[in-house]
Amino acid sequence: MKPRGRWRRERPKEDRELGRPVHEYAGTHRDRPAGRRGRRFDYETLACALRGHITPAADVRRLRPQDEGLGFDLPDGRRFVRCIRCDAWMRTAPPAQPLAESLPALAELELPQRGRELRSAFILRLIAIDRAIHFLIFGALAGLFFYVDANLSRLKSSASSLLQSIESVATNSGRGYPKGFIRRDLSKFLHLQNHTLILLGLVAVAYCVVEGVEAVGLWMQRRWAEYLTALATAGFLPLELYEIAARVTVARIVTLVVNIAILLYLLWAKRLFGIRGGPKAEREEGRIDPEEVFGPAHGKEAKAAVRATEA
Ligand SMILES: [Zn+2]
Repeated sequence: MKPRGRWRRERPKEDRELGRPVHEYAGTHRDRPAGRRGRRFDYETLACALRGHITPAADVRRLRPQDEGLGFDLPDGRRFVRCIRCDAWMRTAPPAQPLAESLPALAELELPQRGRELRSAFILRLIAIDRAIHFLIFGALAGLFFYVDANLSRLKSSASSLLQSIESVATNSGRGYPKGFIRRDLSKFLHLQNHTLILLGLVAVAYCVVEGVEAVGLWMQRRWAEYLTALATAGFLPLELYEIAARVTVARIVTLVVNIAILLYLLWAKRLFGIRGGPKAEREEGRIDPEEVFGPAHGKEAKAAVRATEA
């Protein structure tokens, strides 16, 4: 049976015991886009900083020669293990309570997200956060509309007495009839109807639900959420254009640009609607050859690097 999830447990505490990475072995990053080697930032390092390294070789009793790309024991009792996400090598010792006798075959090893797949997971979660913020804003708006609707007559009487006092102050001070925006907005408010508020509230609830579902689905990296987000984003574009045509504001332009970028990203990079070969092509592109990336040859190079640092 494949030990699903066994290596995936969160282990920041153990990581501290593993010590600092001794050797970042860039040569193994073959599944990542070319040209990223040597760059300071990569998503693998960030993911490991947030969630801890994944070092299957640290948890088995015995390491065999074919496991050398994942970890090896030195005659002095030290064990060097490699993180299968960020490829950092770390020093440890054989475990007192191993989880297994030895590692599964490389082809059986359950790999964490790496390379393109990991980058896309980060971007989807950024979009999910954007959607979660929309969810909160529309939720608050819906609450506000329904609150005003429920208290409309009371609020209207306060508004009309406020308006009266503004007018009397203005008249008494001899400045004539006030024409300011407060007066304009207050009289607009006095003409507000309950059905308008309920309609606005329902629209806000609908937006809130759609954005909330998108946020959860995107966070969980579900394909349906990518489709829902693309469709909803495309659907709201005419409304956003209409709003900009009515009045140009920075916020409206930023919203429009962000949404167009999200839509293009989903269509192009996530290959929705079969664009660029669809999900099959995406899986094919993201596939890595475990023998090539985690084969014993990498262990030999790591061993040599350990020897070099100690020389
Ligand atoms: Zn790592």
